[in-house]
Amino acid sequence: MTPKTENVTGRIYDIQGFAVHDGPGVRTTVFLKGCPLRCLWCHSPESQRSEYDLSYLAVKCVGKELCGAPCVGVCQSGALIECEPEKAVTGDRMVTKVKVDRERCAECLRCAGVCPSKALSASGREISVEEAYTRINKDRFVFKKDGGATISGGEPMGQFEFTLNLARKLKENGIGVCLDTTGYAPPEQFLEILEYIDLFLYDIKHMDSKKHRSFTGVPNELILSNARLLAENGASLQIRVPVIPKLNAGMENLEQTADFCARLGGAVKLVQLLPYHSMGRSKYARLGQPYRLSNVEPPDEAFMERALEVFLSRGLPGKIR
Ligand code: SF4
Ligand code: SF4
Repeated sequence: MTPKTENVTGRIYDIQGFAVHDGPGVRTTVFLKGCPLRCLWCHSPESQRSEYDLSYLAVKCVGKELCGAPCVGVCQSGALIECEPEKAVTGDRMVTKVKVDRERCAECLRCAGVCPSKALSASGREISVEEAYTRINKDRFVFKKDGGATISGGEPMGQFEFTLNLARKLKENGIGVCLDTTGYAPPEQFLEILEYIDLFLYDIKHMDSKKHRSFTGVPNELILSNARLLAENGASLQIRVPVIPKLNAGMENLEQTADFCARLGGAVKLVQLLPYHSMGRSKYARLGQPYRLSNVEPPDEAFMERALEVFLSRGLPGKIR
């Protein structure tokens, strides 16, 4: 039994209010850092590592002529390099920006602390259960009947003590809780947190374990068995299926996914098909990471309708997005 404490801290990368895609109604979503999966289509690379990330957005760099480049001065690894001066977007002045040599960077984050324009910034911060609850509770007036809090990631079950205590605190204070999970966590932890979760937002990415591993880095057996375990123990599930052309969007896989969802019975309150998009692409550049899915285009509406029909024809409640 995990001890009850509001002092336990978690590492998050964001909290967003007025979220309308993270479960029913209007919600406030806490995004935790760290994920055991590495989905090729992930649009939140800042969520993947447990460690803090150094983000660099060149367009925000005002140049050493204005700021004096304190970032270069504090870097003890020689990882910040001055670029060739370039003409400013407005006016005649020249601008000398910097670039980050990721091979040399020791991720000390000193530069993020001194950059006046936030071109360099740290992704990640510690927060206690009490602080997270207080922040979420400020939004209580917009939650109304269906809304509430969503604990997301990354994989929130990877910081189990924090996630469990936050869910418990929210539930005890009358705020509905969704848990957005990959399903890749120990079954006993799902059973322990179950009573505090109104709805699991649960991803099913591929029914073939080998392909699942090649697209996400992990096999699917644990994910599928945890879905069955939750369904058998009274959980409500909103199954989320990312639809990624060339990877999991073949009709055979969609049919097998729909069959699996149908076998979960009344636990499945909704199947949500999420068409691939590349909107997270620029975030990879900011973190100095390669985007690995550059040859995939989003599926068109007609295909998404056909994919949805596969689920509806099995009597499942479903929608696109
Ligand atoms: S985070 Fe990297 S680039 Fe920034 S000061 Fe530390 S070593 Fe240098
Ligand atoms: S990254 Fe920040 S501190 Fe460094 S030169 Fe650009 S604006 Fe100045």
